[in-house]
Parts: sequence; structure tokens; C-alpha cells
Amino acid sequence: MMPGPGSPLALLGALAGADVIRTGAADLEAVQQDHRRLYRGKALALALPRTVDEVSRILAFCHARRIAVVPHAGNTSYCGGATPDESGTQLVLSLRRMDKVRSVDPGDYSMVAEAGCILANLQQAAEAAGRFFPLSLGAEGSCQLGGNLSTNAGGLNVVRYGMARDLVLGLEVVLADGRVLSTLSTLRKDNTGYDLKSLFVGAEGTLGVITAASLRLFPRPRDVATAFVAVPEPRTAVELLARLRESSGDRVGSFELVPRVAVELVARHVPGVAAPLGIGSPWYVLCELTSPRADEGLGALLERELAAALEAGLATDAAVAQNERERQAFWRLRESIPEAQTREGASLKHDVSVPVSRLPDFLRRASAWVQGHVEGAVLVAYGHVGDGNLHFNLGQARGADAALLKSQEPAIRRAIHDLVHEFGGSFSAEHGIGRLKVDELARYAPPLELELMRAVKRAFDPHGIMNPGKVLKT
Ligand SMILES: Cc1cc2nc3c(=O)[nH]c(=O)nc-3n(C[C@H](O)[C@H](O)[C@H](O)COP(=O)(O)OP(=O)(O)OC[C@H]3O[C@@H](n4cnc5c(N)ncnc54)[C@H](O)[C@@H]3O)c2cc1C
Repeated sequence: MMPGPGSPLALLGALAGADVIRTGAADLEAVQQDHRRLYRGKALALALPRTVDEVSRILAFCHARRIAVVPHAGNTSYCGGATPDESGTQLVLSLRRMDKVRSVDPGDYSMVAEAGCILANLQQAAEAAGRFFPLSLGAEGSCQLGGNLSTNAGGLNVVRYGMARDLVLGLEVVLADGRVLSTLSTLRKDNTGYDLKSLFVGAEGTLGVITAASLRLFPRPRDVATAFVAVPEPRTAVELLARLRESSGDRVGSFELVPRVAVELVARHVPGVAAPLGIGSPWYVLCELTSPRADEGLGALLERELAAALEAGLATDAAVAQNERERQAFWRLRESIPEAQTREGASLKHDVSVPVSRLPDFLRRASAWVQGHVEGAVLVAYGHVGDGNLHFNLGQARGADAALLKSQEPAIRRAIHDLVHEFGGSFSAEHGIGRLKVDELARYAPPLELELMRAVKRAFDPHGIMNPGKVLKT
């Protein structure tokens, strides 16, 4: 429906510029449903600014009129953070038209890019300049820098390069009242007071809108060795990780745990993905060593270490990729797990982390609980074990009822998150809070932390217009 003249939307349209404020059904439809289909909202309108100035004008207007703003990027997050509520009063703001790489400076190992850049395009821009941008995740073909920074995304290279926050040198942010905070420098050292930019990373759009970032680049990996390894149990996987870190001089770039059930799911649902070692082992590890030196000899080192691991009983079988095609095939298997799980049926997801050394005990206790208490479910626990991060998911068992699984969700969530808490872990390792885990944060965060978070929120967003209902209870 067209907004009437003099209505806030018409005024906003006039202020923001032609073609920026959209109210067509197709435009709105595309931003009202989250990736996991947990929430279906109703947007007031969709804003598609092209410049920082347009973002600034939109926010200043919304601040003055108390209109809520929901930043929306690639819409791949798992917690409903980018979806408006059902009220029809929230403006969704997407920076997808702000997708320029402003500069790449190979000598400085840095680049400056706008928040609407798709992650895969950033990786390519770095590569074209002979450098490496290490943030990498299954959704990299569609997620955007603004979403990655706002969720402090993790992914496949955290063990070596850290999470999104560790890759940020500076940010350009439009504050809730429309003012622009620019810390877009590429300085490595700057101890001049509070580190304000850090607050926006992982804030899930609740403090302001990130419009651009200066990012840390690295030398390109020139020697890469990748193996798919059968291991008897998670304990031996963790031991293998420690050995590889030591013997390779900390060259482990990725270290992913994959259970047999995940390999079976992928084989069943994703055509063209083969299991490198069959499905005889209860657990597998996908590990990758990387070095910027072309002559590091990582392939030979990995083969030697895996032979020693086989002898020591830490592994039972192993395949080292002999070429890029085989390497890609190993990675396809790992990255196809979420898709295979979706195709299999309903699932309950828990994105948890515990200290790496405690992960085997956590898995043992959590799995025993599931076995004793949950009906009609299959445990699919996989993920970034190098970071102590597991996607502890329960999928609908074949022939079981999805409703039965869903009905047990509150009890399962409580048991798993309580156990994580007991292990000194986190109930949200890399996916954030969004709308989904607001109550969990309120439950598990120490009261002082919550008090300080609310104070930060009030300081940056006094009228509470930025993504209300996400992260903190309003
Ligand atoms: C197949 C698959 C694999 C995945 N693998 C991983 C993984 O390995 N590691 C991981 O961490 N995540 C993973 N994810 C989750 C998801 O991809 C990440 O959370 C990603 O960072 C979200 O980016 P997005 O562009 O889709 O953001 P969106 O989902 O659109 O938004 C995410 C949040 O950021 C806010 N936001 C968006 N843009 C801005 C902005 N410019 N300024 C301020 N706030 C903003 C939104 O309001 C929302 O709260 C995966 C998802 C899928 C589908």
C-alpha cells in the first residue's frame, strides 16, 4: 500500500531520496522471514540506502519519531536477529547497495570495505591483491560484512586467526541518532581511551548501524595440507589437535569434528558428496594445516604425524588430500552438514562452547543425558572443535514425529545449557543472541554484566529504536 502524503513513511521517503524506501509486497516479503523459519515478522517498510549520508538521515528521522530500525544483511543468522517483529511498525534497513571495497592496501595488510559486501567477494578482493582475508563460513556466498561483524561470526579459521572481532581494525558506524562515528583507521596500535568499535562488533544491530570496516589481512596460504581422519572418540580428536599444533609450529588452520551420523546424513541428502573413509568410524576429524611459505612441506609433516597418531591409537584411518579437488571434496562434506540436517527433518540446535580440553567430558555427559531423556531424536554433534565450539543438534529420528521433538525443546535446552554452564562454557558460541536467546542471556549472564550491557544500550540508543527485542529484554 502506498503511504499517504504527510505520513511518516512519505516524509521518510522524501528525506532519504528516491527509490530508497520500499513498501512493495515483494520487497517486504524478502526480509520478513528468518533463515531458520522460526519467526515471521511484518515490516513497516524496507530502506535501501546507497550512502552513509542516507543511512544517517534515515536514523536521525527514526530517532526523532521513535521508529524502530532492524538492520538486515544476508539473513543467514540462526537467531532471528535480522527479522522485524509482528507489529508492522519496524523499519528494516539493508545495506546491500553499499557493497564497495573502498581500498585494499597490500603493504599495510588491510582493506576498507562497506558493510553490504558479500563475504566471498571480500575474500576475492583480498586474494586479487595477493593477500588473505581469513573469515570463512558455510554461508559466505550470501552473508554480508555488516552481518558478520554484528554477529562476531566465527567459522572455519578461528583456531588460527580468531573471530570477526579479531579481524577489525576500525569501523564506521551510524549511531541511533544519525551521527556518524568513524574509527576507520588501519592502525595496529592505538591506546587512546575506550575501544568503542569493539562494542558494535557482536551487538547484533542494537547499538548502531555499521556502514564500513577496515579489516586486517594476512599473507596468503601457499602450502596447504588437508586430511580426513577417523578417530575412535572425541578425546583422541582433542589429543590429536594438541599434537598437531605442537609439531606443526601452530600451523593448524581448521580442526573440525564430524560424527558418523553426519556423514550418513550428507550421503543420503546431498548428491555428489562422498565419504572419504566410508562410514565405519564413530567420529572423524577434518583438519587443515596452512603456511604462507610455499616450501613448508606440510603434506609430508601431516602424513608423518597421522602415521604416529595411528600407531598411538589416536586415529584409526586417515586420508590426506592429494590435490585441490580432493581437498574441496573433504570440505564439501563438512559444509553440507547443515543442509543435510535440514533435509532430514526438524532439528533443535545448540551452538555451545566449552574449554577445548573439557569438550570430550562435556560430550560424554550431554550425550548420555540425551540418550536417557529424549525420544524420537538423533544426536548430531559436530563443529569447530579447535575452538571448543560444538553444534550440539538433535535431529528428528527417521519415522519419528517432528511435533514430539519440538515438544521436548524447552526441557532439552535447559538441560544442555545448564550443563554448558557447569562446564564454564557459553550457550552461544558464535551465532549470537538475536531474538531466540534473549531469555537465555537474561538467565545465564551475571547480573553485573547485564546491568553494564543495559547501561551501554541506554548510552548509545536512549530511545531504544535499534533492533528492539534483540539481545536484551526491553
Ligand atoms: C550454512 C550456514 C553456515 C553457517 N556457518 C557459520 C559459522 O561457521 N560460523 C558463524 O559464526 N556463523 C555461521 N552461520 C550463521 C551466519 O551465517 C552468521 O551469523 C553471519 O555472520 C550472519 O551474517 P548475515 O549477513 O546473514 O547477517 P543477518 O542474518 O542479516 O544479520 C545478523 C545480525 O546482524 C545485524 N546486522 C546486519 N547488518 C548490520 C549492520 N550493517 N549494522 C549493524 N547490525 C547489522 C542484524 O540486525 C542481525 O541482528 C552459518 C549460517 C548458515 C546458513
